[in-house]
Amino acid sequence: MNKPYTIVIKVGGGEGIDPSALTTEIAQLVNSEIRVVLVHGGSHETNLLADALGHPAKTIISPSGNQSRRTDSQTLDIFKMIYCGKVNKTVVENLRRAGVDAIGLSGIDAGIWVGRRKSAIRSVEDGRTIIIRDDLSGRVESVNSEFLNLLLDTARTPVLTPPAATADGIAINVDADRAAAATAIALGADELLLLSNVPGLLRDHTDPSSLITSIDESTLDIAQDAAKGRMKNKVLAATEALAGGVSKIVIGSAGGEHPIQSAREGSGTVFAQGVTP
Ligand code: ADP
Repeated sequence: MNKPYTIVIKVGGGEGIDPSALTTEIAQLVNSEIRVVLVHGGSHETNLLADALGHPAKTIISPSGNQSRRTDSQTLDIFKMIYCGKVNKTVVENLRRAGVDAIGLSGIDAGIWVGRRKSAIRSVEDGRTIIIRDDLSGRVESVNSEFLNLLLDTARTPVLTPPAATADGIAINVDADRAAAATAIALGADELLLLSNVPGLLRDHTDPSSLITSIDESTLDIAQDAAKGRMKNKVLAATEALAGGVSKIVIGSAGGEHPIQSAREGSGTVFAQGVTP
């Protein structure tokens, strides 16, 4: 029997992105017997709720310029409310209404994403580097592909969201792009689409017309230099997925009429085989 074709789609949670806008296209893919795993974010909505609850979001900037959310325990609670609550259940509701047998789970559920908590994080604040030791964030190290395959084998469409959990069961915030990459690798997926509020990786992030259309080993340096802030994680996720055997990876837009089809046809930044992290 041929291995079923599998696509992991990650849709961001930045301002202006509506993951439910992908509903019709996901239903079409599933109806044509393509397996889909959807991973979503929720950063903008989380920031709004954090403001409303009087615990505004803080960003950690690493010495190398990577950005991540400062995740203390109160932030993690707010994060769960939006990611696992409002966003996840709204996406599942819309998919189910479109006839997709969607099931929404966090990385904590069934040990889908198990990772290691960062014991110390370096953060640049006012030009000084400080060490944060109580952050509840980390990185996915293993994916319960057996459980995900059980769902996919019975025609379910998993809708996954951070947090993940440590091996001893502590919830940790993880980067959803890199979690999606780990999931694509673990499932042996054919495609990984990272869709967000930009057309792809831009040479100059302030100029939407400066799209880098493809990346290979010879241009990887350019890609890493061009990516600022949160885009750095997407480039990292893409290179990890490529090294992990995913043959088609696209950083593309979640907007427009047919974002999934466009990305699959190569609109955005396509990562070609041969690139290593
Ligand atoms: P999402 O929440 O959808 O996953 P992010 O906000 O994490 O997306 O990442 C996308 C953001 O990365 C863009 O909105 C843009 O501000 C920023 N960015 C930084 N450098 C680049 C670049 N070179 N090309 C495109 N976007 C970039």
